[in-house]
Amino acid sequence: SELQAIQSTEDLTIMASNRNLLVLPGDGIGPEVMNEVRKIIAWMGKKRAIGFDIKEDLVGGAALDKHGVPLSDDAMKTALEADAVLFGSVGGPKWDTADFSKKPERGLLRLRKEMDLFANLRPAKVFDALVDASSLKPEIVKGLDIMIIRELTSGVYFGEPRGRHVNAAGEVEAFDTQRYTAPEIRRVCAVAFELARKRKNKVLSSEKANVMHTGVLWREEATKLHKEKYSDVKLDHMYADALAMQLLRAPKEFDVIVTDNLFGDILSDEASMLTGSLGLLPSASLGAPDATGRRKALYEPIHGSAPDIAGKGLANPIAQTLSYAMMLRYSFDLGKDADMVELAVENVLKAGYRTGDLLVGNTDGVKKVGTQEMGDAIVKE
Ligand code: NAD
Repeated sequence: SELQAIQSTEDLTIMASNRNLLVLPGDGIGPEVMNEVRKIIAWMGKKRAIGFDIKEDLVGGAALDKHGVPLSDDAMKTALEADAVLFGSVGGPKWDTADFSKKPERGLLRLRKEMDLFANLRPAKVFDALVDASSLKPEIVKGLDIMIIRELTSGVYFGEPRGRHVNAAGEVEAFDTQRYTAPEIRRVCAVAFELARKRKNKVLSSEKANVMHTGVLWREEATKLHKEKYSDVKLDHMYADALAMQLLRAPKEFDVIVTDNLFGDILSDEASMLTGSLGLLPSASLGAPDATGRRKALYEPIHGSAPDIAGKGLANPIAQTLSYAMMLRYSFDLGKDADMVELAVENVLKAGYRTGDLLVGNTDGVKKVGTQEMGDAIVKE
């Protein structure tokens, strides 16, 4: 069939272009959901003349099995040369006992570090057809469309000194250091302001300036940058604990939220659950712009490799599909084409197509489908 014919990456090379894409499917359901995105890439090449020079490599456990490391130097080099990386997911029980430095997740961390992907974008959008999948009341989440930007390469997960020792009182003590420089704060806030201009023009910056020095600096730098370059955007500030409450009370009040690594880790998970399922949520991680204005970028679903359903054809390909749409929008300025993909997903959900993870609440009139049927329905739409 046509769909089978366009599934392999080789078919796409005839549409070579100057858009360089590295595809890293990874482990578990990663390769399964990536296969569905390949169908859309092929459709886009044929019907919209959007071609990519596609390279593909191994990451995570798959790379560990073949190369003895979760990301080979070759793959790293290709990633640095690519305009964008489309990533699946890594990990699984097979590699749980691997040495810490060789764990599948280290492959992803290496990519983030060497590509200097400091801004992690996580949209939380509620599809009308899935309003009931949220644990919140429909009126709180209907129409929700927010973007959380988490600083990804600094803060308490990286600050030195860190470690553990026995202190002077003879007690075991562990410590981490929350540390931010002004430029680190400014560059991630700049991403937030720029994104807000393409959305509802509102940024909420969040920290704990009431109790933390880094919070005070964060608020100062966000305010300064806003005054200097982005005064057309509406800027507000909120303590991170208050924001955790507001996200549950009235999430629709927000547009773009920008915050540090630790708070962003927690708040973006909270926000994503407003939408119902892990299988729906994409993300983007962006680096600094180069001389041509293009940022290094990696796009991935927020879910993991889902070993419990891997290999069974049950995984929901929507998060991976929407990650591809984000790539079109942010790396290649193909906003209209990204809209098409997102609309196709929305229509397929409206028509009642549901993978297992979306079967909640009233299931009258829904069509239970597997990974491939969902992918095919999106391509058809
Ligand atoms: P997970 O996201 O893989 O799965 C959590 C639950 O959600 C599972 O029940 C799974 O079946 C379900 N789920 C996830 N994605 C789905 C999809 N697309 N469609 C349908 N159901 C889906 O998280 P986990 O179980 O905590 O971790 C499993 C493995 O993935 C671990 O090895 C973990 O380290 C790794 N992991 C990797 C990433 C990544 O690659 N970025 C992220 C998180 C976890």
